Amino acid sequence: MNPAGASILITGGGRGIGRYLVDKFGEFANVYVLDKDVSLCGEIAAVGNARVKAAPCDVTNPEDVDAVLGRVFSEGFSPQVLINNAGLIHSEPLINILSRTDKAHSVDSWRKTLSANLDSVFFVTRRVAEQMLSTRTKGVVISISSISARGNAGQSAYSAAKAGVNALTKTWARELGPLGLRFAAVAPGFIDTPSTRSALSETVLNNLIKQIPLRKLGEFESVYQSVLHVIENDYCSGTVLEVDGGLV
Ligand code: NDP
Repeated sequence: MNPAGASILITGGGRGIGRYLVDKFGEFANVYVLDKDVSLCGEIAAVGNARVKAAPCDVTNPEDVDAVLGRVFSEGFSPQVLINNAGLIHSEPLINILSRTDKAHSVDSWRKTLSANLDSVFFVTRRVAEQMLSTRTKGVVISISSISARGNAGQSAYSAAKAGVNALTKTWARELGPLGLRFAAVAPGFIDTPSTRSALSETVLNNLIKQIPLRKLGEFESVYQSVLHVIENDYCSGTVLEVDGGLV
């Protein structure tokens, strides 16, 4: 698919990787951002790019997703591309041996992490895929996963959620490929974002960089290039494209 002039829906586009994708695709495509941060949606609108619109939406809430997408579709925005980017990086050991109280992983953080990274992908994709099929759009759904899906010590919930995203990607590619829809995941390694820097201490980060064969963190551009490749390559479906400097 040629992304120029295409309609691209991006979740979690308010900041971080999502915002970079919004700014890059906003140069030549029509972009609709869903983000739960109302002020970030206002900030995007204030930029004044007529190709980029934003609506507040909590993608972990199926009623909110249905209502907001209903409005987006009735405004005439029918996505050819969905980028499921909204997510929440969470690190917590299964057993915290240093804790003096409950040493076991919190159930609350387990549920929040699964909800932000996995439920969100299901809630948004089921409506967008329905819309693509009803408008006979040969669309593509790209979900931002993570190399943590392979299993990462200290990230039970996040790893499980992203492994779930990969499984959904392959399942939907098989199920809806015959109807012309493509599904792929882009799985970054460690990207230099504020969320990475707040999730990992300086020491942990420096040790990590030593283990990355390319000896550096990834950039927003690395993720953008992978997403662009999936959009442009019409034979790309059911795959998890890892972009990690050789780490895994
Ligand atoms: P950020 O936390 O910087 O940005 C995430 C954006 O998603 C924020 O604008 C956030 O809004 C929004 N968001 C979160 N939850 C919801 C929700 N329920 N509804 C709507 N919007 C929501 O994350 P990154 O840019 O670092 O990560 C983006 C994606 O890339 C995530 O899926 C992450 O798992 C994945 N990833 C990131 C890596 C990295 O190194 N940073 C590595 C591998 C994967 P708010 O500001 O209100 O929270």
